[in-house]
Amino acid sequence: MAKQEDVFKTIIAHAKEYGFVFQSSEIYDGLSAVYDYGQNGVELKNNIKRYWWEAMTMLHDNIVGIDSAIFMHPTIWKASGHVDAFNDPLIDNKDSKKRYRADVLIEDEIAKFDEKINKEVAKAAKRFGESFDEAMFRQTNPRVLEHQRKRDELHTRFSEAMNANDLADLKQIILDYEIVDPISGTRNWTDVRQFNLMFKTEMGSTADGAMDVYLRPETAQGIFVNYLNVQKTGRMRLPFGIAQIGKAFRNEIVARQFIFRMREFEQMEMQFFVRPGEELKWFDFWRQTRLSWHKNLGLGDTKYRFHDHEKLAHYANAATDIEFEMPFGFKEVEGIHSRTNFDLSQHEKFSGKKIQYFDPELNESYVPYVIETSIGVDRMFLSVFCSCYEDQDLGNGDHRAVLHFPAPIAPVKCAVLPLVKKDGLPEKAREIQHRLRFDFTCQYDEKDSIGKRYRRQDAIGTPYCITIDHQTLEDGTVTLRERDSMEQKRLSVDEVEKILSEKVSLNSLLKQLVVK
Ligand code: ATP
Repeated sequence: MAKQEDVFKTIIAHAKEYGFVFQSSEIYDGLSAVYDYGQNGVELKNNIKRYWWEAMTMLHDNIVGIDSAIFMHPTIWKASGHVDAFNDPLIDNKDSKKRYRADVLIEDEIAKFDEKINKEVAKAAKRFGESFDEAMFRQTNPRVLEHQRKRDELHTRFSEAMNANDLADLKQIILDYEIVDPISGTRNWTDVRQFNLMFKTEMGSTADGAMDVYLRPETAQGIFVNYLNVQKTGRMRLPFGIAQIGKAFRNEIVARQFIFRMREFEQMEMQFFVRPGEELKWFDFWRQTRLSWHKNLGLGDTKYRFHDHEKLAHYANAATDIEFEMPFGFKEVEGIHSRTNFDLSQHEKFSGKKIQYFDPELNESYVPYVIETSIGVDRMFLSVFCSCYEDQDLGNGDHRAVLHFPAPIAPVKCAVLPLVKKDGLPEKAREIQHRLRFDFTCQYDEKDSIGKRYRRQDAIGTPYCITIDHQTLEDGTVTLRERDSMEQKRLSVDEVEKILSEKVSLNSLLKQLVVK
């Protein structure tokens, strides 16, 4: 088994053991691709949401938030195209009885060519050392060129089949490239079929004539159908944005990789309404602004990359993903799309209501164009969690599991620990905890040795521990232990409070965003 797979398994086990993420309905053997967040998980998740919400609504004069309902009029999903086209191509293996997304099987095959090329490059880099010219090698090495040619050929055929919705050719690609089921190892495939990802339910009692409604597969439509309400009541002038955080539901064919692909998940979406013709300028702006937001967390600049879409949805005129390096490779965390005026125009058509903006500068009315930024809270959580987890070797056979969360989003900001459970130390510790708890999420722990308590806090990513000992009773000083360096300093409680205010507040993170 690949080492990265082991790492990922350890991370999943850690997330459960320390109260971050639990399988939904676990005592009933679980519900596939649905997860619950535990006592520490909910704090981390809420902090990620606050970081996004405040960066959007507090740092931009022209972005406001809403919270629309999950249920919406079913015609909305007809207008948006979800009823007819929110499909994934699925294929079954007749031997293993497992179901796959045909596009994902083919994308994995394309990725194999990339891996082969990268292996050749890495081998040559090792052989040639400092004098290695990677660009030249990629352009001239016959083996690399051959892999590249095959990759491009497959890629072009795949894109054409997807764009033309040619399900027969998707199957033929799988057969031609001899793609096997990873479980049965056979090529005994069914035909490829389309599968709609929306969950349907009924609203109202059957006696009244119930109406079919959908659980929303994205939060964006709640923004589009409220565009006029917000624009008018907020007296908003273009360009302006509407932000929303909320649950979305997709009946994913293949749910895998823990909370990466769930059937119930949460999105943070912002629709930015602009003048037609200015959309590509704003697309570029949001592409950069969103990447800065990610990098500002300090998880490592090389962990991000853009993936520009070659296959654009029929209504989009530019689209890119921000990908993050997960233990299972670079994967999409956020999408940024230039959606033209498609959605608003469709709602204008289906509702029969005018959804136009009167531009006082141009003295004309039009349907605004939209740039969308759409990020999954759970995928963001996963990227933070995976990149912050470390099984750290401390030498002499000792090691600790530590989560190096950026302090402002850590679930617990500080732990107050009396060195021993007697001599008035617990009382003093409680006094300090009560002072700090109004500003910082603060835990009190007096069980077990101080070393064990430090490890427990490391394992949930608490950036600071404050230890109260006998000297505290004499001169009021405490020991402040920092999670990553494990350095300890003797300080007054005032000084500790000052350090905490600087290091763990969300403001510090937000201010860096503006300065950069
Ligand atoms: P994918 O190609 O991975 O299915 P997508 O391109 O369909 O994702 P979008 O419709 O652009 O995703 O949704 C925006 C964001 O919502 C994604 O970048 C991702 O972070 C999140 N997201 C989408 N589907 C899921 C899911 N099933 N589970 C968790 N997060 C999701």
